[in-house]
Amino acid sequence: MSAARKAEERVDETRTSLVVMKFGGTSVQDAKAILRTTEIVRGRREKGLSPVVVVSAMAKVTDQLLVAASAAGRGDKAGALALAARLRNRHIDTAADLLHGDLFLQTEAAIRRRFDSLDDLLRGIAAVGELTPRTSDKVVSYGERISSQIVAAAFTQHGLDGAHVDARKCIITDDHYGKATPLEAAIESQLNELVLPLVKAGKTPVIGGFIGATSDGITTTLGRGGSDFTAALVGGGLRAGAIEIWTDVNGIMTTDPRICPDALRVKTISFEEAAELAYFGAKVLHPATILPAVQKSIPVWVLNSHNAANEGTRISALAPPCASPFKSIAAKKKLTIIDIVAGRMLMTHGYLKSVFDVFNSFECAIDMVSTSEVSISLSVESNDKLPAICAELSKIADVKFEGNKALICMVGEDIRGQSGISGRVFSAIRHINVRMISQGASEINMSFMIEESDVDEAVRALHAEFFANPDPTVFDIVGRAVAAKA
Ligand code: ASP
Ligand code: MG
Repeated sequence: MSAARKAEERVDETRTSLVVMKFGGTSVQDAKAILRTTEIVRGRREKGLSPVVVVSAMAKVTDQLLVAASAAGRGDKAGALALAARLRNRHIDTAADLLHGDLFLQTEAAIRRRFDSLDDLLRGIAAVGELTPRTSDKVVSYGERISSQIVAAAFTQHGLDGAHVDARKCIITDDHYGKATPLEAAIESQLNELVLPLVKAGKTPVIGGFIGATSDGITTTLGRGGSDFTAALVGGGLRAGAIEIWTDVNGIMTTDPRICPDALRVKTISFEEAAELAYFGAKVLHPATILPAVQKSIPVWVLNSHNAANEGTRISALAPPCASPFKSIAAKKKLTIIDIVAGRMLMTHGYLKSVFDVFNSFECAIDMVSTSEVSISLSVESNDKLPAICAELSKIADVKFEGNKALICMVGEDIRGQSGISGRVFSAIRHINVRMISQGASEINMSFMIEESDVDEAVRALHAEFFANPDPTVFDIVGRAVAAKA
């Protein structure tokens, strides 16, 4: 075997043992949380894996930085600096709880330098009295820049050889400030140049999520909640063996356990199923953000940092066949149904467009639509613009709206082509009044609208119908038995 070939094989081994671990704001919110995170990462290293860690800003820091930025933008320099001072203390206190000796002194000095430059930036914004998207990105970037530095130092302090990597050198994006688009080829080459050698040297790289930079080095962000996206980009770029998204739930469940104590953990789910669930209110993660990993067939795990022994949920491009038609039932509350009656006008050219234009002009997203010859029913999230929207619509139609509605969404790849499923669904809830029904174009979800007050009963009835004999290869029935005994 040639030397080049051998070297290539060694790189491949590194890649399969490489695991990108993403920790959100609550997993790094204080010294206690960072220590728990450190132990989870140690556990992976002890298994022979090579973790690359992506962290969010400490909990609530991004929100507070945005408040400081907008205060400065209004010219309220004192308010902005007071907020920054509180953040400075919180970060230094956390570092003091985690670090000792020189490592603390160096880290503290670095944190102070960062906050000094944040103060300068806020003063500049206040002086100009204007906050541009570009400057706003610069301000919020401090959250992840500093959290990642503290976590890297904590890893070093606790024997994991942390290595801080500035995300802005790796996550190269366009200049769409506030929600930049990553440039995957550039990201891949930067990661291989800057991060892979650290992994090979036995270090634990720590990268701030959410932030990036243009190829000219101007700071950008990937949009709120963007750290999951960073994890997928890092995993995809390094062709990692797996990506782990550490949260505070045991993965994706068959339904909300607060409504239905019988809910089971879903062991494995397809990307498409997870995407449907996220859209309909399951808050675990936004699957669009893990697309870069899915496209490269890298499995993504959702895991619980408060229960690290739990196996979580594996999200993969293709889910194994499942004997149960549905994987999960989600409920989205606080919806309003709007009925628009427009007589024969409805189907005339351009009419629907004028209806949707009204929603568009109020930046109001529509969840579900059903039409008949003379009327159209829409559901939207209840919001205070609804009276104004309806007033505008009543110029072109008769309009009624009714709040306190909820959407039930049932997702499963295995309902594809199965007849009789909707019969089972609606007979399980025959005593409940169903308003709008839609079988999503994706063919893997069935959703319908009911009264908000009927949600708990409907979810329990449907769960009993479809999860009485769950397929043990897909659902954690052992976990349910253990929970029932406890
Ligand atoms: N810190 C960012 C936010 O709060 C990104 C993230 O946490 O994923 O939106
Ligand atoms: Mg998040």
